[in-house]
Amino acid sequence: MMNYARRGQTPGDDKMTKQILLGTTLQFDGLPMVTPWQDCVQVNSAGGVLVDAGRIVAVANGAQLRKEYPDAQITDYGSDLITAGFVDAHMHYPQTAMIASWGKQLIDWLNTYTFPEEQRFSDAQYAAEIAGRTCDLALAHGTTTLTSFCTIHPESVDAFFEAAHTRGMAVVAGKTCMDRNAPDTLRDTAQSAYDDSKALLDKWHKRGRATYAITPRFSPTSTPDQLAALGALWAENPDCLMQTHLSEQHDEIAWVRDLFPTARDYLDTYEAYGLLGARGVYGHAIHLEAREIDRLADIGGAVVHCPTSNTFIGSGLFDVTGLAARGIRTGLATDTGGGSSFSMLRTMAAAYEVGQLRGVALHPAQLMWLATQGSASALHMSGEIGHLGAGAAADITILNLASTPAIAQRHACATDIWDALFPTIMMGDDRAIRDVWVGGVRQHST
Ligand SMILES: [Zn+2]
Repeated sequence: MMNYARRGQTPGDDKMTKQILLGTTLQFDGLPMVTPWQDCVQVNSAGGVLVDAGRIVAVANGAQLRKEYPDAQITDYGSDLITAGFVDAHMHYPQTAMIASWGKQLIDWLNTYTFPEEQRFSDAQYAAEIAGRTCDLALAHGTTTLTSFCTIHPESVDAFFEAAHTRGMAVVAGKTCMDRNAPDTLRDTAQSAYDDSKALLDKWHKRGRATYAITPRFSPTSTPDQLAALGALWAENPDCLMQTHLSEQHDEIAWVRDLFPTARDYLDTYEAYGLLGARGVYGHAIHLEAREIDRLADIGGAVVHCPTSNTFIGSGLFDVTGLAARGIRTGLATDTGGGSSFSMLRTMAAAYEVGQLRGVALHPAQLMWLATQGSASALHMSGEIGHLGAGAAADITILNLASTPAIAQRHACATDIWDALFPTIMMGDDRAIRDVWVGGVRQHST
C-alpha cells in the first residue's frame, strides 16, 4: 500500500539533502498581462535556488547561497534558464495515443477519433499504460502539472492519479461525465455521474498532490439532469475545481442553442445548473458574448487558452489580452489530443502566433508567465505550483537555450535574456528540456 500522507514521497538521494541549483533564474512578482512586463520579472544570470524537503526555500544569488549553505548539494546549470515547471491547465490524457489525427473539426473529430479511443479506458491496464506514458511525456517536455479530463470510467481516473503520484506530480483530474450524444459505451447517467464522481472525489481530492475537478465534458453531452447533479456535487464540495469546455466552435455553439433553447448563452447552460463559480475552469472560451465575459469577470472563473488545438481543429483566435484586461484568470494549455503538441514551448509559440493574427505581439515574459503562474492562478494554486519562489513546491524546469543547431546560431546573436529565450519558445521542443525537478526530486534528465 502506497503512503499518500505526506508530500513528495518518491524515494531518492535528491530528497535527503539541501540542494542548490545554479543558473539563470526567472521569477515573476507581478501580473505581466495587465501591467508592464518589465515591472513583473526578476532575472538573475548568477542565480541560485535553494531546495529542501521538496520545497523552494530561497531564490537568491548563487554564490551567496553556497556561502550560507556549504553542505548543500550543488547542481550547476551554467547559463541555462531555471524556471518554474510548466503547468498545463487543460488536456485529455486518454487522447495521448490519437494526437495529430487528420482532417476533422470538433464534433466529427470527437466522433471519429476521440470516442473510439476513450472506450478503451474501461480496461484499467490500458488506462494505466496511457496515464504513465502521458506523465512521462509531460515531464520530458518540462511540464510538472497536468490538468486532465479522464473518461467516463472510474478506472481511468484512478490510473491517472496513481501515475502522477508515483512521479510526485501535482495534478488535477476528474471523471468525464456524459449522458447523451455519445456512444452507448461512453454514457453514464445523472445519478451514476454523481455517485462515481463523489466516490472518486472522496478518494483522491487533496490526497498527496492530487486535486479533483468535477468534469462534465461540455453541455451538449450532458442532460440538464446531469448538469444539475454535478452542480449539486460541487456545492457540496466547494473546494474542488470544476472543469469543462466553453464556446470552442461556432457549430458547437449553435448545437448548444438548440439543446438549451431557454439559455441566454452557452455559459448560461452551466450557470443555470450551479456550474459557474470562481473555481470553474472553462477551456477554450473563444467566441464569447459580452454577457459571458461580464459573468466570468464578476464570478472570477478561469478561462484556458489552448492555441495549438484552436488552430489544429480550426476553432478560432482566443482573445488573451482582452480577457486578461477584464481581470479574468487565464491559463495556457496543450489540450492534447485536440492540441497538436505535448510541449508548452510549442504551445507558447502558438499563443504568440494567435496573438499576431489578432494584432498583438505577446512578450516572452508574458508567454512564460501564462505557462506557469497564469495556469497556476487558473487552478487556484498560485504560490504552490508554477512559481519559482520561496514556499512553492520545488517543481522546476531547466531550459537549455541553445538546444539545436538552428536555435544555437540564433541564440549566439542574442542581445538580452528575452532575445536569448524567444528562439527556444518559438523553435524549441523536448530537446530544450535539460532537467526537470518535481517536488525537489529530479524526475527527468537529458
Ligand atoms: Zn479539451
